[in-house]
Amino acid sequence: MRIDILTLFPEMCRSVYTQSITGRAIKKGCIEIYSRNIRDYTADKHNNVDDTPYGGGMGMIMQAQPIYDCYKALCEEIGTKPYLIYMSPQGRVLTQETVKELSKKGNIAILCGHYEGVDQRVIDLIADDEISIGDYVLTGGELPALVLADAVSRMIPGVLPNAEAMENESHYDGLLEYPQYTKPAVWNNIEVPEVLLSGHHENIEKWRREQSLKRTKERRPDLYEKHNK
Ligand code: SAM
Repeated sequence: MRIDILTLFPEMCRSVYTQSITGRAIKKGCIEIYSRNIRDYTADKHNNVDDTPYGGGMGMIMQAQPIYDCYKALCEEIGTKPYLIYMSPQGRVLTQETVKELSKKGNIAILCGHYEGVDQRVIDLIADDEISIGDYVLTGGELPALVLADAVSRMIPGVLPNAEAMENESHYDGLLEYPQYTKPAVWNNIEVPEVLLSGHHENIEKWRREQSLKRTKERRPDLYEKHNK
């Protein structure tokens, strides 16, 4: 799988995905992630990539031309049209289901807006999808793009040390994960639940399932109801 992030702040993106689990996965060759600077494609002699909004109003809007040329250069380089996602507070809200769906696409490109947003004409022309990471507004699409790239990467075989790790996790099957504990067995006079020390796998699985259902019911009744349908 290949993920390309189209951004005005490529270094900001690189500084995140080259670390930790995604960084190791890139080195192992399980996934490719690149950042491309939209500013490198501006036709403006002063290197500008934004301008004031038609109709008036506050802030600046990212212009269509540099984004479109950046996207075309990417298509030419990889020899195909990637599935292009514009990160936007107006998009469909990201869920684990969407993450799974996107992880099956061979190539995705993620467009990060900035300032007051992006000229609608280029979004209409190149975007296949518009995704929000939640009902709040950030200053730019870089953090949302990194959230999406990270979540999708975890679904790619080889990125996590074992496949079970992600299958047990919250949201994978529509439930929240059970509580987790590690050594020592007694910390601050608080004991780890006895069943986890029993070595009885069936009982441990049963306890975990019960805890998972209980947590989901208490914390996310909406998910619990959906799961029980
Ligand atoms: N004027 C836009 C609006 O009201 O819909 C908001 C622009 S926002 C300040 C700048 C950029 O940040 C957006 O173009 C988008 O790429 C990104 N962004 C902000 N909040 C986001 C969110 N919740 N999810 C995804 N992207 C977001």
